[in-house]
Amino acid sequence: MTEGLEEAYWSVHDGAAASASVRQVLSRLPKNTAVIGRLAWQADRRSTLAAVVCQLASAAMAAFGLIASVKVLQHLFAAGPTPDRVRAAIPQILIVAGFLAARAFLEAAVAVAQARVTPKIRTALECEFLHLTAHVRLEAVEDPDWHDEVHRANDRGLFYARMIVGQVVSLASATLGLIGTAGVLGVLHPALLPLLLLSVLPVGAAAVRSARARFNSQVLPGIHTRLARRGLLPAEHLVDSGYTSLPHLEQAARDHQVTVTGPLPANPTRQHRQAKGFARDDFHIDYDRQQVTCPQGQVSAGWHGPYPTSSPTAAPLIVARFTKGQCRPCPARTQCTTTADNARTVGFPPRELRDLQLRIRTEQQTPEWKTRYAVRSGVEGTVNEFAHGHGMRRCRYRGQGKAHIQHVLTAIAVNIERLSGLPSTEAGSPPRQPTAFQNYLDQRQIPRPKSWRTLGS
Ligand code: SF4
Repeated sequence: MTEGLEEAYWSVHDGAAASASVRQVLSRLPKNTAVIGRLAWQADRRSTLAAVVCQLASAAMAAFGLIASVKVLQHLFAAGPTPDRVRAAIPQILIVAGFLAARAFLEAAVAVAQARVTPKIRTALECEFLHLTAHVRLEAVEDPDWHDEVHRANDRGLFYARMIVGQVVSLASATLGLIGTAGVLGVLHPALLPLLLLSVLPVGAAAVRSARARFNSQVLPGIHTRLARRGLLPAEHLVDSGYTSLPHLEQAARDHQVTVTGPLPANPTRQHRQAKGFARDDFHIDYDRQQVTCPQGQVSAGWHGPYPTSSPTAAPLIVARFTKGQCRPCPARTQCTTTADNARTVGFPPRELRDLQLRIRTEQQTPEWKTRYAVRSGVEGTVNEFAHGHGMRRCRYRGQGKAHIQHVLTAIAVNIERLSGLPSTEAGSPPRQPTAFQNYLDQRQIPRPKSWRTLGS
């Protein structure tokens, strides 16, 4: 039975990161950090040691700076004339500045060490990946599951290997900073420690939520690649707004001829969110001349990019700039920009992505698009029924096999429940018309039992 109930091949790993809880993330952190530490140590011992020592020293500088700044405040808030208090605080201010400068220097040293280690770790992982994939048995090459695993390792594993060192360094920096701050607060007053915890927990939970959303938005290319390998690509793929990003929509159409249909996120600019002032759509973009014309008729003086973004889900950005000379005398300036130099900049994606964005946003308003997308509402409704009506957010058992059986049994229970909710057919349907043979019996007043099976009894 479990063979037939195996989880779909394409969803085995994709959802794991996107649905990880804070507790799961925290429980995996020590192991993952240890793996990265071991890899870094093997790749470049000197740089790894330098990064660790400088990181610890930087955290110590931050803690000393915090203690010194408390003394600055004590001087500033002491009794006496203001000039005297400021004069008394100057030595401590200089000490704080010294600690901050030392910290900045040490963080720069950490960044240098990190820049040395990261490419070496990536090279080591790539070599290991190639070594492993070059030494498999020939029949494995024909196995689609093997291809899936290799694709994941290549697509995700090597992609994240590039970023993981920086993330471990940031994590170590944040953790050490937190320990240093907790130490200082503990010395000042132990009652301040719970406040520190209260300030940190929401930030951590928000970071995990945003990471989960980011993972969701990145799974689409992998799903399409694996479906293509099996010849199961759909012509249209209905998704929710967590999966629609311009680069992925364009990539799905270009690489797999799949139309991804889902609500495209709205323009994120402040003017558009507040529906106030000149948003990006109020500017005319001329890609051929590399010029942007603003609502007041001014033509941009600079065109820069496209710049790649740090997120694989964000489109590259072209930036057009207007000058202070154009914007300062503009009567509509307050509706347009609040920057310190009073000069507006406008960011937008390259031409093909911009055209796609405009086309999708227009399509989304049409009744045809809404009817097409309504199919997804049915799916979402079912998911919602399972999640909120039948506790499917929690697994009762350990292991994917058992969890999947729970899903299937719950689905059977939902079907039974739906059937039992249907109106009774006996009460609802009209009586059936008698057949010609029954009419014949009735005309001759020959009795006929309700069931012909009882005739002989
Ligand atoms: S502030 Fe500058 S960009 Fe904005 S409308 Fe005025 S001239 Fe145009």
